[in-house]
Amino acid sequence: MTDASRLVELRNLTKFFHIGRGEVVHAVDDVSFGISAREIVGLVGESGSGKSTLGKTVLGLHDKTSGDVIYNGEKLPAKYKPADFQRHARVMQMIFQDPYSSLNPRMTVGEIVGEGLKLHTSLSGAQVRDRVGEWLRRVGLNPDHMARYPHEFSGGQRQRIGVARALVLEPEFVVCDEPISALDVSVQAQVVNLLDELKESLGLTLLFIAHDLSMVRYVSDRMAVMYLGSLVEVGPADRVFFAPKHPYTELLIGSNPEPDPRTERGRDATAIRGEIPSPVNVQPGCRFANRCPKAMDVCEATTPELIPVRDLGHDERLVACHLYG
Ligand code: SF4
Repeated sequence: MTDASRLVELRNLTKFFHIGRGEVVHAVDDVSFGISAREIVGLVGESGSGKSTLGKTVLGLHDKTSGDVIYNGEKLPAKYKPADFQRHARVMQMIFQDPYSSLNPRMTVGEIVGEGLKLHTSLSGAQVRDRVGEWLRRVGLNPDHMARYPHEFSGGQRQRIGVARALVLEPEFVVCDEPISALDVSVQAQVVNLLDELKESLGLTLLFIAHDLSMVRYVSDRMAVMYLGSLVEVGPADRVFFAPKHPYTELLIGSNPEPDPRTERGRDATAIRGEIPSPVNVQPGCRFANRCPKAMDVCEATTPELIPVRDLGHDERLVACHLYG
């Protein structure tokens, strides 16, 4: 399922953490998919599914255990050196999950947003200030407040500062790591609308990580569902949301009791039984087997491959489940 025409291509990307006594955390295990230029791919799954580790590994914030990330035809290093971060900062950025802890409380907002410009461009101090002011305006903040500190802003405003900090260098590709999960529902909608607008005006390509599928559906072109380090379903966002094929996706959508942030209507909750298992020393077989209401004998022994599945002419519907083998 690799495709060289994508802007970002993951090929068998794997990130394991060795935690001693021979134990290995399979955080990201053999993940392959691509993101086209100007596309938004929503990456969803429960906490502990490996979504954030995947995003950080793509950007070189974690070393790769194996596999590759190809960006615009160039294979990125398995282990980043400082010069690699320097080289890629102009084109790849991350918006972090927590607007409270991801902003340095001792720096002013102007310093936070302008830091990347100082490090990665030759702009003068005045030009940096102008660019920071322009970006504060663009994300809906008052440029006159650039001398203030993060604690003087609300949660939603802090996430806008985080958005400005990530986008001030006008990157091509941004990983948004649960950018709204720490915010109130009404503020979530504002931040999502802002990202949507900026995506259009800047022509951004986004990997949007979230556990709230209803939100991801609004912003994404395609949705990728992750479970215990592996992808279990990939397809057009609306098709995955309204006609899920993998039993985990189906239960994940049903178990999402959070209201839709744009309509603020709640949805029925259907519990997924049990907890997501430990990602330590994962065994062969379907990783969802112990929670799956449709599990069969074959599921315990044989790992299902992510394969194309027929879906109303959508040729990019991929599912890893023996029901479709
Ligand atoms: Fe369920 Fe088997 Fe499909 Fe896994 S492979 S999701 S256990 S039916």
